[in-house]
Amino acid sequence: DLRNAIQDLKGNIRVYCRIRPPLSIEVTKPLFNLNVVDACSIEVEKIELLNSARKTKPQLFTFDGIFTPHASQEDVFAEVSSMVQSALDGYNVCIFAYGQTGSGKTYTMEGGCGTEQYGIIPRAFNMIFTCMEDLKRMGWELTIKASFLEIYNEVIYDLLNPSKDQENHEIKMVNSKGGDVYVSNLKEEEVKSSHEFIRLMIFAQRNRQTAATLNNERSSRSHSVAQIKIAAINEKRKEKYTSNLNLVDLAGSESGKTTQRMDETKHINRSLSELSKVILSLQTNQMHIPYRNSKLTHLLMPSLGGNSKTLMLVNINQFDECFSETLNSLRFATKVN
Ligand code: ADP
Ligand code: MG
Repeated sequence: DLRNAIQDLKGNIRVYCRIRPPLSIEVTKPLFNLNVVDACSIEVEKIELLNSARKTKPQLFTFDGIFTPHASQEDVFAEVSSMVQSALDGYNVCIFAYGQTGSGKTYTMEGGCGTEQYGIIPRAFNMIFTCMEDLKRMGWELTIKASFLEIYNEVIYDLLNPSKDQENHEIKMVNSKGGDVYVSNLKEEEVKSSHEFIRLMIFAQRNRQTAATLNNERSSRSHSVAQIKIAAINEKRKEKYTSNLNLVDLAGSESGKTTQRMDETKHINRSLSELSKVILSLQTNQMHIPYRNSKLTHLLMPSLGGNSKTLMLVNINQFDECFSETLNSLRFATKVN
């Protein structure tokens, strides 16, 4: 369709910005100036004290689209669904949520309670299962497998198979001969209905939360990846294909301040900067793409670059206290777009 044609012209990465609304308990927090210029750009500016001599200038940032604080989960998915369609068409796809802790990444990817608040992950699944029925009528049999994992301090944790000694569990990246990459010992569950999928997602969420309770702040300092593998076969037509849909809730992009967390911050900032390096190298058609410098990019290697599609949602909030982190997120987005 037209959208895909446009995307092919501009490369295989799309970047959106989502501005989250303040929660009811946050309505008294001061905000910086944010002006939605048009459907694709925003201007941001810090409000200076009245007697300040310094004059500021609004800074303009342009995206493939903006989701204002009024945008619903449904509005967001309406834009994202073409990526899920691409996965059903046989492309490998990555969808990332980027932003500082508290900016709405998990809300965007997983969502809240009730179907209306469902985020991208459950909606993507519902869509896959709806399309599966149509494809079946055309002779296509689809097998869907799901896995959920977390990468924390460069160690992979299986969220469907939590065990006490994860680190000795030998969950590691393996390169197969076909140029494929997989994670050994990672549980992959075949899913036969969206109901089953929601159950798995909640199980994974719970395991992520348990780990976060045991290890303070782990949930904001780790990347969470939902991987959906589609294998399609058409006996009549003697055709088949496989594709991956990767849905990634990235670690908080904020720079750490306390010395305790310095080590973690280094890891996180490194893997986020490795991700942007990979995307930049792909955008500029470099010969060597440095996939292997972090677990995240290594894991996503088959789904970044080549014949694959990427969508990044940069989540921001409008709190004055978050202004400099917001600028960092917006600059990151501009760099990879
Ligand atoms: P992050 O994962 O980036 O740390 P969260 O997704 O946990 O951020 O969002 C922080 C809080 O804001 C949560 O309570 C979440 O439910 C709420 N929230 C985020 N985005 C929205 C939104 N678009 N509409 C309503 N509430 C939101
Ligand atoms: Mg989160």
